[in-house]
Amino acid sequence: MWRRGRRNARGEEIFWRNCDVLEFWAFLVAGVAMTGDPQMAAGGRPSVFLDSAEAARLRKEIRILPWKRDLYEGTETTSPVWRRVAKPGPDARRWLEKDIVIPARGGHFHHFFCECGNVLTWPKDLQPSPEGYACTACGRVYKGERYDAAVRREMHMALAQGALNLGLAWQVEQDERFARKAAEILRKYAAAYPGPHTGIVEGGIIYQSLCESMWVIPLAAAYDLILDSGALTEKDRADIEQNLLRPCAKGLVACGTDGNWGSWHLSAVGVVGYAIRDPELISYALRSFRDQMADQLGDDGLWPESVHTYHFFPLQAFLYLAEAARHNGEDLYYLEERPGKGLRAMFRAPLEYAYPDLRLPAINDGWWETWLPGQFYELAWARYRDQAFRWVVEQRAKAAGRIGLWALLFGEDLPGDAPAPPLRSRNFPVLGIVVLRGPGDSMLTFDYGPFLGHGQLDKMGVTLHARGKLWAADYGTPGYGSSILPWYTGTASHNTVMVDGSNQERTTERRLTLFAGGPHLEAAVAETEEAYPGVLHRRSIVRAGDDFIIVDELQSGKPRTFDWLFRGEGAMSAVASGPPAESELVLEHVAVRKSLRISGPVSLSWRQGEDELRLNLFCDDAADVFLARCPAETAARRVEMIAARRTGMRARFVAVLTPASVGEDLRVSIDGDVVRIRRRDVEDVVTLGPVLSSEPATDARFSLVRLVSGRPSLGAVVQGSALRWRDRVLIEGPVRGWAQKTIAPEP
Ligand SMILES: [Zn+2]
Ligand SMILES: [Zn+2]
Repeated sequence: MWRRGRRNARGEEIFWRNCDVLEFWAFLVAGVAMTGDPQMAAGGRPSVFLDSAEAARLRKEIRILPWKRDLYEGTETTSPVWRRVAKPGPDARRWLEKDIVIPARGGHFHHFFCECGNVLTWPKDLQPSPEGYACTACGRVYKGERYDAAVRREMHMALAQGALNLGLAWQVEQDERFARKAAEILRKYAAAYPGPHTGIVEGGIIYQSLCESMWVIPLAAAYDLILDSGALTEKDRADIEQNLLRPCAKGLVACGTDGNWGSWHLSAVGVVGYAIRDPELISYALRSFRDQMADQLGDDGLWPESVHTYHFFPLQAFLYLAEAARHNGEDLYYLEERPGKGLRAMFRAPLEYAYPDLRLPAINDGWWETWLPGQFYELAWARYRDQAFRWVVEQRAKAAGRIGLWALLFGEDLPGDAPAPPLRSRNFPVLGIVVLRGPGDSMLTFDYGPFLGHGQLDKMGVTLHARGKLWAADYGTPGYGSSILPWYTGTASHNTVMVDGSNQERTTERRLTLFAGGPHLEAAVAETEEAYPGVLHRRSIVRAGDDFIIVDELQSGKPRTFDWLFRGEGAMSAVASGPPAESELVLEHVAVRKSLRISGPVSLSWRQGEDELRLNLFCDDAADVFLARCPAETAARRVEMIAARRTGMRARFVAVLTPASVGEDLRVSIDGDVVRIRRRDVEDVVTLGPVLSSEPATDARFSLVRLVSGRPSLGAVVQGSALRWRDRVLIEGPVRGWAQKTIAPEP
């Protein structure tokens, strides 16, 4: 072991010396052989994801903790998309039986998808199949090099993961056969490696430099894990370092540090750097990490692409780097390149973005079935000791068990009693998403932000979770290669307003004009003029308790067609009657079942079990209403939607969304700007603007009077100074932002 102080001082020296980028590049171009840091060379192995003391502790834990033994040795889980997640022990044993054959350069994962959006069937042995590959959903068969190359990529990933698992098995079981097999994989890769990436899809052994990064991290870790075994000769070590790991890392340096690909590039360079103890690679990785934190992570702590995959995707990469760094005396967990911008914020912000059951809203590109990743929060708890992170690990463990490398290496036995952290409504200004949370468990997301990397044409889109269920979803994206992709990236697949039947334009606006409120009443208002040039669209979301009111106001200089779109999970039933609609809803992938011309309110509900979501929609004039079916997360599953169409130069829609029990006595009405939501003897009276009636009267932008048996029990305003109910003053005095008062019963 080297001494921490000297190591740090040395690290900083290297960092500053290499601040001269030109000098650094010249150094690389000249191909100067880099010698290892003598301080580091003195250190023991392993030293990247595990040190020898941690390995000894792991051996003991696997003996005495059943869940940890299961993480190492248990039966594997499978997923049609991600093929299979083998536990290290069984995977290592399986590799012992196999001859190691390195396949030719691998292709693109996203090519392995059917036009219907579903993944094709991976061959069990991951050998390319001349008969082709059938869609897991519709059975259509695809064959040829495009698909074979995707299979070869999977094989490369399996080999790299296999090497890591063999390295772990060597550390856990101390059986040299594991180390020798890992050494065989590394040696054969050193012989077969065709040379580094020269561009993000040029060179390397896998098509994308992103995948090359994901492939080399476990290989580098495996190398470190078996160095103390004697399975590698001096010549093997030289071959692996000089013909595989170092050139691969240098290629990734050349691929840059932009976006989430950059996160993987720099993390892979760092992990390789620590594995082969190359100070130049290490300092490059640490400097690039700091730069990404400062310049690319959003000020709101979220990765500004799409949260649910593209936040955790770079975080996943950073954790490999952070652990490798930590094992070498460099702390990245508490590093804040600017206030609030660091790994801790990357763990903390998503808690406030996730639905109450920790599912992640699939807004923008990304997989539909995604939850707060408990496996990463294992490290968050281990490194920060923040109870909120323990809560995440425990909640996810209850739903899906303890999973992943970090749970195996550093997961602790947990009691399962961490209190849920208080989660409040929050605006994520970089991404442009507001999350509104009710006092029960309701949560609505409101996407008002600009079109960013991996964005979709979903401006003003909402999703809703309530009563433990997701009611209105954004379904993210299927595989990028599938032909139905335009549906998911387009406007019609989102709960927003579509104009003239066409997709929105990409926007740059972040026009959130209001976001204020307290526990019982709050509001978020946003505008856009870029989504449809010439159209001003203002969407206001008002939350009263666990109910939501969505107000859409649209204005244009010329006549337009405005389609208000909303889809729900569960069986839909509708109470609406009228003559046939005057127009047709023609949208690809949407099958209209019923169309009506209506001049009054429309009442719909979607039922799931004993709960339902009710929607009362009020249009400002006669409208065509279409009840239809559209794709859910794939075309193979459909959900029921409503489109309400108004035509003209302006339109206004008021939608009241009320989660309820099936059969609950719940009445919703609207009169001008006053919405009433009554559940038995409790009635919420919400105003959507200044109102001068006797009950209520207010100058507020939004207000709430809660009546119990007809008497006010609570008053709240957003942006206002007075609220009265009949002759009674509930709130008075200048109020900035919002105010809320519990009203004492009248004497
Ligand atoms: Zn298919
Ligand atoms: Zn979407």
